[in-house]
Amino acid sequence: MTTPHDDPHGEDIRRAAALLADASYCIALTGAGISAESGIPTFRGKDGLWTKHGEPPLNQFDEFRDSPADWWRNVAERRRNPDELTASLVNAQPNDAHFAMAELERIGVLKHTITQNVDGLHRLAGMERLTEIHGNSRLLRCTQCTTRSPFDEIPEIFPPRCDHCGGIVKTDTVMFGEPIPPDALERCYRESSRADCVLLVGTTAVVSPAADFAFAVGQRGHPMIEVNLDPTVITQYCAVALHDKAGELMSRIAASVKELRGSGDQ
Ligand code: NAD
Ligand code: ZN
Repeated sequence: MTTPHDDPHGEDIRRAAALLADASYCIALTGAGISAESGIPTFRGKDGLWTKHGEPPLNQFDEFRDSPADWWRNVAERRRNPDELTASLVNAQPNDAHFAMAELERIGVLKHTITQNVDGLHRLAGMERLTEIHGNSRLLRCTQCTTRSPFDEIPEIFPPRCDHCGGIVKTDTVMFGEPIPPDALERCYRESSRADCVLLVGTTAVVSPAADFAFAVGQRGHPMIEVNLDPTVITQYCAVALHDKAGELMSRIAASVKELRGSGDQ
């Protein structure tokens, strides 16, 4: 027989699963921590890139606006000589936490996911009900009409122009100082205002406006569930808070939800 001592998370996993199974419109907010087990470093936290190297300049978008051609030359240079984050993004694959969330979406429990990650791993795991609020490093985006296209190769002309409207094209990743694309913001408002449960995975929940969409659900009195390696500023507001690696916790939560729902495929 398993005792709470053998399995410190067992009871909380069942409570989290029950909340998810009971919700009629559950959404999720994910951050860099969900991709840590895919080998992509986080920014904050013990081994975070900013902890090691300091915070990046906050005027990246000004640099782009001042000279999109020079900015594109820098992007091309970084592709040739990638830094730690760029290098890890290129070959990363989804981990158990991404697949567990994809399964929760597939069985209809998770209605929408807002990710702050730019790594595209939720999509690679098969998720479709998704807003990449800070963009996707594998895509390009027109700064005027927001049309997105795959970023497979460095463009031949700097800056590249949009096929539809002639606007200047940049990478889809949202830089410091750059407004969140209006289509992403609008979707986040819509999804979060419908939600009656929110699952937060691998996020410090300090980046605005992304974190605000999760808080808004909690402020309406609905349950918040946290899955994170360590406690965060939101832990005290959560109905259930689980602190360990996201891969194992999310796999167990998804399995428990499916058990509660019988076959899990209705
Ligand atoms: P963060 O870097 O600020 O914090 C990461 C969080 O993940 C911490 O709370 C940490 O305790 C937790 N964590 C670390 N390893 C974990 C694991 N194995 N399982 C569960 N939790 C774990 O992350 P954030 O709050 O998302 O930061 C926001 C910004 O960082 C976002 O704008 C995002 O775009 C950017 N970012 C993205 C990536 C990516 O695309 N993978 C990587 C680094 C940073
Ligand atoms: Zn355009």
